[in-house]
Amino acid sequence: MSHLLAGSNISTGYDQLQILWDVSLHVDDGERVVILGANGAGKTTLLKTLVGLMPAWRGSIELNGEPVQHRSTDYRMRRNLAYVSDVGIIADLSVEDNLRIGGYHLSRSQVQDKMGLMFERFPILKERRREAGGSLSGGQRKMLAVARGLMSDPKLVLMDEPSAGLSPLLVNEVIEIIQSVEEEKIAFLIAEQNIKFLDIAHRVYVIDFGKVIFSGTVQELQQNDAIRRAYFGVESLT
Ligand code: ATP
Repeated sequence: MSHLLAGSNISTGYDQLQILWDVSLHVDDGERVVILGANGAGKTTLLKTLVGLMPAWRGSIELNGEPVQHRSTDYRMRRNLAYVSDVGIIADLSVEDNLRIGGYHLSRSQVQDKMGLMFERFPILKERRREAGGSLSGGQRKMLAVARGLMSDPKLVLMDEPSAGLSPLLVNEVIEIIQSVEEEKIAFLIAEQNIKFLDIAHRVYVIDFGKVIFSGTVQELQQNDAIRRAYFGVESLT
């Protein structure tokens, strides 16, 4: 059976500079997978390649078994992929308009339905729907970014460093937001350097200098002394 998303032997980079080296990974329906790596390990580059914002020099990317590495980002988005980047939301636009952008390829009535669902799920966004995205608190902005991603009815949400710029308290809030969509069986692929996200991960890939150096369950990672000490400088990951 094919995976929801599968990347095989992906290599890419910027001009002559190779950043990713033969990276392979997959995500199945409803799975929460974390890509863990330090600053500059290549996490953003990997997510951008998966969504088509950067070309893969080599390797393949499949969505439900269909090769998409030569397809546009738009094409991939229309196949149930959403990308929540660290850039986040558009500060000058209202909460509502930010959500509309997330559902750009839906009909007007579908957008209204979806927005209603988002407001049910995140009541604070409803309360502030006419206010500018930029006026929201850090945690609320992340909430809006996630809600915007969910507007397109994705099966898989790729999130680039959701913890960036957030206090530990707000990081917990973001984790709760991700957990709260569990019942819809939406899969998440989350690039992070914050090990807190392992709490909600089914599986994890550790990348270092653009290579996958570990792949397995969180429990397997916890049992891997070498990786734990070398990359996280901690005795225990929980
Ligand atoms: P961070 O947590 O800092 O975002 P990351 O794991 O997401 O790190 P990337 O942003 O993918 O890492 O960066 C991987 C490497 O690619 C880094 O060495 C970075 O300097 C380099 N890089 C990123 N963007 C560019 C670019 N536009 N041109 C050249 N090199 C780049």
